[in-house]
Amino acid sequence: MKIENYLRDIQDFPKEGILFKDITPLLLEPKARDLMLKQLLSATESIVVDKVVAIESRGFFFGMLLAQQMNVGFVPVRKKGKLPYETISATYELEYGQDVLEMHIDAIKPGERVLIHDDVLATGGTAKAVCELVQRLGGEIVQCNFLIELTFLNGRAKIGNHPVFAAITY
Ligand code: AMP
Repeated sequence: MKIENYLRDIQDFPKEGILFKDITPLLLEPKARDLMLKQLLSATESIVVDKVVAIESRGFFFGMLLAQQMNVGFVPVRKKGKLPYETISATYELEYGQDVLEMHIDAIKPGERVLIHDDVLATGGTAKAVCELVQRLGGEIVQCNFLIELTFLNGRAKIGNHPVFAAITY
């Protein structure tokens, strides 16, 4: 079984010129899902993690599976105005304009070791904003992991010296 067979390219979604990596075929197939989860977990064997921080909304699928398998807390990062309690926020660049991500202020304690997860690493702007949120609460980023990395967009450069793992690279 190859994970790549469960990833689907959608041309010009959500707008012209974007080749969208659709992970819903992977979500449909338990065996493929399990293979993906095992790959992500094997890359965390040598690190100690206290919290998994995942990015709305496609980051939540495997982010929660990871947190459950690793027996650690799960922290959702959401778009502005979605989290009910007190938040901190970070602005990040989109292709056109800006957006804001938020995290609850009590989600991470100073010194906690944090694994950041999302489905796709593209330009790295989103992951960079989440790194900032984690660091503002005193968290230590031990890894940023992704199902898919679009290497030609060089997102790793934005993430700085934090270790990056991607199960599938294009
Ligand atoms: P970026 O900030 O450019 O690294 O974009 C990362 C975020 O946008 C992730 O949350 C992805 O879900 C989404 N994303 C960006 N590009 C793609 C793509 N080609 N296919 C699927 N999702 C994407």
